[in-house]
Amino acid sequence: MIQNPNEIAARQRMEEAMSRIEANVRTRLQMNRRQFVCGSAATMALAMLGLAGCSPKADANGGVGSQAYKAGTYEASAEGRNGAVNVKVTFTDDAIDAIDVEHEESRNIGDAAIDILKDKYLQSQSLNFDTVTGASLSSMAFATAVAECVDQAGGDVKALKKADTGIEPAAAIDEDCDVCVVGSGGAAFAAAVTAAEAGKTVVMLEKMDIYGGNTNAGEGTLNAPDPERQEPLGIEDSPDLFYQQTFEGGDELGDPALVRILADNALDAVHWMEDHGLVYEKEPFTAIGGLWQRGHAVEVEKKGEQGGSYYVSCLKDSADKTGKVTLYTDAKVEQLVEEGGKVTGVAGTRPSSGASIAVRAKSVVLATGGYSRNAELAMEYDKRVTKDMPSSNVCSSTGDGLGLGEGVGAGLRNMELVQIHPLGDPQNGGVATFVGNWLGVEDYVMVNDEGKRFIREDERRDTIADAILEQPNDEMWLLVDSTDIAADRADQIAELVEKGHSFKADDIEDLANQIGVPADALAETVEGYNACVKAGVDTQIAPGKELLGTELSDPAYYASKRIPTIHYTMGGLCITTDAQVCTEAGEPIPNLFACGEVTGGVQGGNRLGGNSFTDLIVFGRIAGASAVANA
Ligand SMILES: Cc1cc2nc3c(=O)[nH]c(=O)nc-3n(C[C@H](O)[C@H](O)[C@H](O)COP(=O)(O)OP(=O)(O)OC[C@H]3O[C@@H](n4cnc5c(N)ncnc54)[C@H](O)[C@@H]3O)c2cc1C
Repeated sequence: MIQNPNEIAARQRMEEAMSRIEANVRTRLQMNRRQFVCGSAATMALAMLGLAGCSPKADANGGVGSQAYKAGTYEASAEGRNGAVNVKVTFTDDAIDAIDVEHEESRNIGDAAIDILKDKYLQSQSLNFDTVTGASLSSMAFATAVAECVDQAGGDVKALKKADTGIEPAAAIDEDCDVCVVGSGGAAFAAAVTAAEAGKTVVMLEKMDIYGGNTNAGEGTLNAPDPERQEPLGIEDSPDLFYQQTFEGGDELGDPALVRILADNALDAVHWMEDHGLVYEKEPFTAIGGLWQRGHAVEVEKKGEQGGSYYVSCLKDSADKTGKVTLYTDAKVEQLVEEGGKVTGVAGTRPSSGASIAVRAKSVVLATGGYSRNAELAMEYDKRVTKDMPSSNVCSSTGDGLGLGEGVGAGLRNMELVQIHPLGDPQNGGVATFVGNWLGVEDYVMVNDEGKRFIREDERRDTIADAILEQPNDEMWLLVDSTDIAADRADQIAELVEKGHSFKADDIEDLANQIGVPADALAETVEGYNACVKAGVDTQIAPGKELLGTELSDPAYYASKRIPTIHYTMGGLCITTDAQVCTEAGEPIPNLFACGEVTGGVQGGNRLGGNSFTDLIVFGRIAGASAVANA
């Protein structure tokens, strides 16, 4: 797996800032020494005072003891994942008194990490904390900006970075409950809320410092046939058509009974999420690889950067309301505990302290997500995956649940089926950072480095990804115009262009020159595409695109380079229609349930875009209900 170039750059920025701060401290000390040697008695006294005032007094334990600051408020800023993290720190003579932060870091990810660090700094008066895993860019930006403020206030950053924190290490967890849920993504929360609303006590265990998993990073599009939204637009749909497209789109490798449940309960999942506070857009759309206009997008006002985090927030609030759910972060499950052939709980370790975890439960639900960030495991099964292929997923997606399940005899299915997303960002592997991400496939035109279309844009994800790997340089350009781009996207677009995720031009020739594609060829392709749209039939390539939108003729034009990225893993634990984990032969494992991306058989050989969120809610609820019935 390649290291994220943004993370490398952020680390460099942080190191540069730290050496700048250290150089400042050295200069200040040298100045003070010179003054001491050369100055008048009065200057000498001031210098001595200054020296004493600015230096920390290290205590016997290596802690900072009492720090002395120049009281006041200082400001600094550092580049996070989504832009500047602006920090304002207020100091008294001897303490960091308050930290105000302004940023646009991702909901539940970067902002959660900043909150965690902020609390720790204020509580401990130390800066001796690691970055929060899963949000290192945001953590580093925050840490760098606070350190700059400490330096401005005359504090000793170096000493504070080594100072004892005085914070108690994470304590052991020893609990009894009705239902133990492993993980805290969408599937985990759907199961936990279902169980808690039925009156059961629930303990959720999450290995990271922040909750929400990969679901936080998801766009949040959920597929469901929905007459109320589709009929006014003249879109024909039904659970049967959804079933057929999911089963056939998955190469008939899914479990027909599981696919049927997904299709039949999808609309109910929409309503259940609405009942739990989520607001969807009124009009459905077709997500890339979604094959039909049944994608429910989170309402743009509520969505923020990623709609998935909104599901997590709604469900976390719902879980809190029941008063029945205890959520531990920093709690990694390493083993399922069995007695007499039945799962009776889980065991593990708190990563930050090494303290033990023992939770005894009548039912255990595994909702640990997929393994897109475990390239070694993915490579074992899917030969297209290389160790250098980026991933769109957050770092928690390492497939832990597979080993946990296998440890008690669970079967695995469809493991060779890894979804490689065709719209990966060459900068970071993500699939959302380009102009047009919020549009449907109807609006996309895809060309290779020769300026030629090579695939119908409404194809399946795997087919598009495979086709890209046959193009020069294994890459393509995604083009959109401004037809469906609302004015309120202007800031977002400007940032995407500024950061090099997308290129912008007022005519096709300029666009071609900017992206290094032959201008004549690109102009000819766009002209040909527009003629097809006008005629209503795509004859430019075979097979032609069916979901033809509007012509590409409304400037400004945008082009974004895209490469294949590991995005989703279809394989996983075998489950029954009650979401009970079973052996390969279908024998249920007592007291053990699973839902979400950790399971196999729901999506078959190719997950349709928008079908994972349907899966999380439909099967999360089923796993929760089965866990309740069993408890
Ligand atoms: C950028 C992006 C956009 C996407 N957009 C969409 C979309 O619009 N529509 C759609 O349908 N799908 C989308 N997906 C896919 C979808 O987001 C995921 O498939 C889904 O969120 C997985 O949810 P989950 O609950 O199964 O797992 P996760 O959300 O990954 O949660 C699993 C949790 O379990 C925890 N965990 C793992 N192992 C352990 C352990 N040993 N002990 C304790 N905790 C553990 C993890 O830390 C994690 O928090 C997208 C994915 C990405 C990356």
